[in-house]
Parts: sequence; C-alpha cells; structure tokens
Amino acid sequence: MTDSNAGPARTRYAPSPTGPQHIGGMRTALFAWLFARRHGGQFILRIEDTDQKRSVPGSLEMILQSFDWLGMDIDEGPREGGPYGPYVQSERLELYQAWAAWLVENGHAYKCFASVEELAEMRAAGAGYDRRYRDTSAARAANLEAQGLPYVIRFKMPLTGVTVGEDMIRGPIEFDNDKMQDAVLLKSDGYPTYHLAHIVDDYHMKISHVTRAVEWLPSFPLHLQIWKAFAWEEPQFAHLPVLLNPNGKGKLSKRKQQFTDAAGKSVPVLVQEFIEAGYLPAAVMNFLCNIGWNYGDNEEIFSIAQAIERFDLKDVNPANSAYPIAKLDWLNSQYIQRAGDDELCRRLKPILEKAGYSVDGERLKRVAPLLRVRLKSLNDVLPMAGFFFDDWTAFSPPAVDILIQRKMDDQQTAAVLRDAILVLERLDDFAPEAQQAAMASYAKATGFKNGQVFGTLRAAVTGQRVSPPTFETMEILGKAESLRRLKLALASLQQAVA
Ligand code: GLU
Repeated sequence: MTDSNAGPARTRYAPSPTGPQHIGGMRTALFAWLFARRHGGQFILRIEDTDQKRSVPGSLEMILQSFDWLGMDIDEGPREGGPYGPYVQSERLELYQAWAAWLVENGHAYKCFASVEELAEMRAAGAGYDRRYRDTSAARAANLEAQGLPYVIRFKMPLTGVTVGEDMIRGPIEFDNDKMQDAVLLKSDGYPTYHLAHIVDDYHMKISHVTRAVEWLPSFPLHLQIWKAFAWEEPQFAHLPVLLNPNGKGKLSKRKQQFTDAAGKSVPVLVQEFIEAGYLPAAVMNFLCNIGWNYGDNEEIFSIAQAIERFDLKDVNPANSAYPIAKLDWLNSQYIQRAGDDELCRRLKPILEKAGYSVDGERLKRVAPLLRVRLKSLNDVLPMAGFFFDDWTAFSPPAVDILIQRKMDDQQTAAVLRDAILVLERLDDFAPEAQQAAMASYAKATGFKNGQVFGTLRAAVTGQRVSPPTFETMEILGKAESLRRLKLALASLQQAVA
C-alpha cells in the first residue's frame, strides 16, 4: 500500500457544539481518526464554540457519547485533557486576540470600524465589504478606537495573483485572490471567527492533517494566506465529500428523522437515533467507512482494525455521495450474526430492560443464540423473544387467528394440540431433536404438513406468529410449562369455537 504520510499524524475533529451529533460529522471524525490510527499518531477533539449564539448546552456530552458508543478513542480533548489544551475555544480567547493583534502589528490585518449601517449599505449594493478601512493609518485607527468605536479585525487578503491549495483528495486547486473578501478574524466582542481560531489552534495543537467538510473549500485560499502571514508551516488538507440525502439531492439534513425509506421507516441521521434503532456500533462504523471510501477487494464487510491498516485520505472519493442507508440494515444483520454470545447478551439486555422486562441472565444466554440469524435490528428482540422474559404464570393463549395455521380449521387445530400433548408428555428426552422427531412422525402419520404442526405448536406456546425455532423455544420453556401452554391453547380454542 502506498502511504501519503511518512511520520505519525495528528488529526482532529472540531465540531461546533450545536446539538445532537449528526452522522455526517461522525463520518468526518472517523476519517480523521482512522488516519491518526493508521499512522500511530493522535486524534484530538476540539470544541469550536466561538459562535456563542449557536451553542447548545449538553452538546459535548452528546458528542462524547457518540465517540464512546462507536468505540473511537480520543487522545486529547476536553474530557481527556492533553498537553495543548484547553480544547474548548471559548477558553482560549486571549490566544486568538494576541495573534489577531500580531497580524495587525505586522501589516497582515487591520481594524475595521464600519458600522452596522455601513455594512448593510454595502450588502445592499451587492459587492460585499469594500475594504474601506484597509489602508487606514495607524494613527487614525488609534484615534477611532480612543473614541470608543467598536471594530472588527479583518485579514488583508492579497488583491491580485492566485493561491494554490494542495488538497490530498482533490490535488492542486487554484483560486483567484481578487474573488476573495477581507474576512473578519476577530469580532467586536473579542471572539474570533472560525477562520482565525482554527488556524491558531491547528498550529498550537500541532495538527498535521486537517480533515473537514468540502463546504470549507471556498475559504481554503483565505486560510492558506493566513498561514502564510503567520509564517507557520501549514498542515496538509483533505476536504471530505459530504453526505447527500438518500435520493441523492441536497445535503443530508441536520434535522432529526426527516426522511423515510420506501417502507415508511424513518431514516436515522443522529447518532442517538442509530443507538435507539438497535444498530450495533461495529455495523455503523463499517457503514461509515463505506461512505466515500472503500476497503478494496470488493469487500463490504471488514473490521475497523482492517480499515486502519489500509485507510488513506488520498483514497477518499471526492464526489459527494447519497446516504446509503439501505445498506445499513443488511450490514447490521451481518454483524449480529457474527457477534459472540457475550456481546449479543450485553447488547440485548438493556433493550429488554428498557421495555420493562426483568432479564434473567442465564435465560438470556440460552435465548440469544437462537436470535442471532433472525434479528435485523437488536430491537427485534422485543417482538420476537420478549415473551421469554414475561411473567410465565401470566401467559395467556393466543387469539384463534394466530393459533389456526394456513389451510387448517379449528377442528384440525384442536386435534393437533390434543395429540401433541399426548406425544410430548411421553417424551423423556425433551431436547429439540427428540421433540422434532416425535412431532414429525406424528405429522407423517396423520398427513399434516410439518409446517402446520410445528406452526400450531409455535403459536400455542409463544402466542406469536414469529419466534425463535419452536422446539428450542419449548426446551427453554421446559416440558411442564410447554405442556401447560398447549393445554391452555386447546382450552381457549374450544371455548372460542363452542
Ligand atoms: N467547527 C467547524 C465545523 O463544524 C470545523 C471545521 C474544521 O474541521 O476545521 O464545520
């Protein structure tokens, strides 16, 4: 494998704390994380909260929960600490202010005193900021400042020439400097903008590779010129493609569950929604890797360890891609099939408990393996196997329409139940194989299909149309309880048709 980085990498994910963690952001984080892990480096979480109006309390907790759930470990961040902290921008204001002042002193930036009205006029004229304070003398600026006029600090973007940005995914990109604005670096309230803050931080935090959404590409030349003004060696950049709506149109919305698939099921976009929908984190990680990158060898399923061995930012596909959510259900069922018994039990237990079942660990250990090939989502455990964890003494037999199988009537169903009770009562060995052999020979002798007989038993002992295999189920229920349920079903059928 060729490798686009020789030494260890330091990468970061730098979300603004604007609410629940969105899956698109998590994919951005994942690619930065994979790259750091591939190169034995560090992955840093930095909270970019300089737009205080947009900050939502509790966001950091939701971000951390998302990382923990997916198993992406963070080397440095607000919770982990680290040598280059603090890792929250609002706690670093003095640093940005000092560097903004440095840029002014060194002729790379200037104080702009344009009033709100002036700015509105310029906007109305449609040409953007007209640089009216760019060449104001230091003396005049000092004078205006002394009068108490509020100001922002703007960057002196070169007016001519081109800036060439090297993007790891897209190659060299040329930008005309005269199309750029003199962007604001520091606002009048002393808070930096993204443009200044992320550069100061990426420098001080020794970030080697900046991975961010392609929406930042238009500001790339501005950022490169700021790096140059500081005379700091810039990191490498990778502008990642974004996720489009499942229909391929428009960027995937940040809003919660806005989309439904063909079956009318709402499509998750927030990490919290993936957790609640019963996905395994390993399946979601695999799913995210496949958006804009592929493992190769036509392999859609691979472990994170395998992805780390191969991942390279330069192999990311630059094209934005439609959110391939349909793939996730399939991936999830594959991961559930591969999950070990312990993991399966560990994941299913809280789902059952949340639904109000009290879960006996030993019983769950017997039930979980039966579910492995049957669950598309972990949440399917509830309709499929919740009954195992009900109060058995309160079991009530199913309604007639569930009990009576296709191409059977009430008489035949009653006959099957009555006979099954006799056959099963005689069994000393209640193992599934023994039950099945006995009931199959009964079916053969009476001319019923296996499916009719087994289905009747399933409905009678579970009260459901779908469940784990009938005889395994009866083994877990035990002979006495199974027979009790068959008798209850028979009695309730007789009562219903009497
Ligand atoms: N706070 C920026 C955002 O959320 C970070 C972009 C970056 O990674 O530099 O888009």
